Amino acid sequence: MKMPPVKYQRGDTVMGRWPGSSLYYEVKVLGFDAKSQLYTVIYKDGTELELKEQDIKSASGFQTRSRSRSRSPGRRRSRSRSPGRTTRRSSSRTAAAVAAAAITDSAPSSRRDTKLKDTVEVTLSPLVSATASLSVIPVLMKKLESLKTNGFFAIVVSAVAVAVMVHQDVDLTYIHSHFLQLATASFLISVLLSIYLYVRSRYVGQEQLALGGNSGNVIYDFFKGHELNPRIQDFDLKFFCEMRPGLIGWCLINFAMAIAEMKQQGLDTPSNSMILVNLFQLLYVVDGLWNEEAILTTMDLMHDGFGFMLAFGDLVWVPFTYTIQAYYLVSHPIPLSLPAVIAIVILKIIGFYIFRKSNSEKNAFRRNPSDPKLSYLKTIHTATGKSLLVSGWWGVVRHPNYLGDLIMALAWSLPCGFSHLLPWYYMIFFIILLVHRDSRDMSECRRKYGSAWEEYCRTVRYRIIPHVY
Ligand code: NDP
Repeated sequence: MKMPPVKYQRGDTVMGRWPGSSLYYEVKVLGFDAKSQLYTVIYKDGTELELKEQDIKSASGFQTRSRSRSRSPGRRRSRSRSPGRTTRRSSSRTAAAVAAAAITDSAPSSRRDTKLKDTVEVTLSPLVSATASLSVIPVLMKKLESLKTNGFFAIVVSAVAVAVMVHQDVDLTYIHSHFLQLATASFLISVLLSIYLYVRSRYVGQEQLALGGNSGNVIYDFFKGHELNPRIQDFDLKFFCEMRPGLIGWCLINFAMAIAEMKQQGLDTPSNSMILVNLFQLLYVVDGLWNEEAILTTMDLMHDGFGFMLAFGDLVWVPFTYTIQAYYLVSHPIPLSLPAVIAIVILKIIGFYIFRKSNSEKNAFRRNPSDPKLSYLKTIHTATGKSLLVSGWWGVVRHPNYLGDLIMALAWSLPCGFSHLLPWYYMIFFIILLVHRDSRDMSECRRKYGSAWEEYCRTVRYRIIPHVY
């Protein structure tokens, strides 16, 4: 069958629509993938994305209709902060563009434009095509910076609130003694929230719906999430639930378990195993909140609708199952020897180092592939125009960030000893989750990068654990 000719060629400067919005930016075409029918384009600030042909317009049409408000390249900023929890989509977006995408969601409607305008507090009108200029990017970046600090700020405020409660003799052991009741209440809240989300999603425009949760089957859509980014005014329900109650609740419950352990075991201080579990998981959450901007690029935020699956995961699964180790220790405190503590701490540090370094390395590379600081890294060029790292951490295994995460998970379970399976639940669950995630990512990358991905797999032979898997 004869393929239609490719409209835009490599090197062409065109206007690319930012996914989910009506904003168009000047982009350069890097390549075209005939199979997926997607163009890989690069924005002026280094962001690479794949766009459909209908999301690209010729630059000349724009220039004749608009006064150019583009800023000089000097206005562009390179960002060195590297979020930890990046996802497969994250690496191809800059923080600024992500902010634009996250704020504008998936609606090119004027209603969504109004939301964007209100949210970023800058006048973007008229937003459509011609007048959307690159000058928006620095403004959004600034706005994003305030977003970024917000998660960390939220946990600090929560910590202060908990300290005040402790000072006022509020009995936090209630959380331990009513663990199941609280979990059940959270479950009911997640169900009610999901019902609310589904009902409201029936009244929003088609353009606000998530692709995945738009099957027409009520049960499936209720589960997967029908609306992409439901909001009450500027309050983004999905963003809030993903980052705040579950993560901060996780730390609060862990802390309550430490107090419950002291009370139940008649200890003056929590056991060293409880302290380790608390500190390790607190570090994980604080790191996630410190690098909160990364969530804006995750599949959850960008693609999955907000329905029962995410509501349950955010409000029930994370706070009430990730705390099982601390819960277990309340009635089974394990006094660890000093060498054991040192060994576990070293393991955690190693895991955290690999996790953070690998995520940061890929993130920095995706944000600015020509960053001189990364020039020592070897890469494989792909037909999409993007490259794959084959040295550094990404040359050791194909998912070094999973490796780091798994090592950390091991360090969270070890303080609980080997006499019960319960505290090892997270480790087992996480292995299954990451192995499954890795194979999903493999198929996706094979589809995206074709022979270049095969070459990467030949060069980097192991998926997660060197010489093992
Ligand atoms: P990744 O951050 O590993 O993203 C995978 C993507 O990275 C690929 O799709 C590809 O996207 C890009 N990529 C893959 N190989 C290379 C390479 N060699 N060079 C450059 N880019 C490459 O996956 P996740 O989103 O699954 O995980 C993010 C983090 O979140 C991880 O650290 C994970 O451990 C953690 N996590 C934690 C969970 C928890 O409950 N605690 C749950 C899930 C994840 P592209 O080429 O398009 O950029």
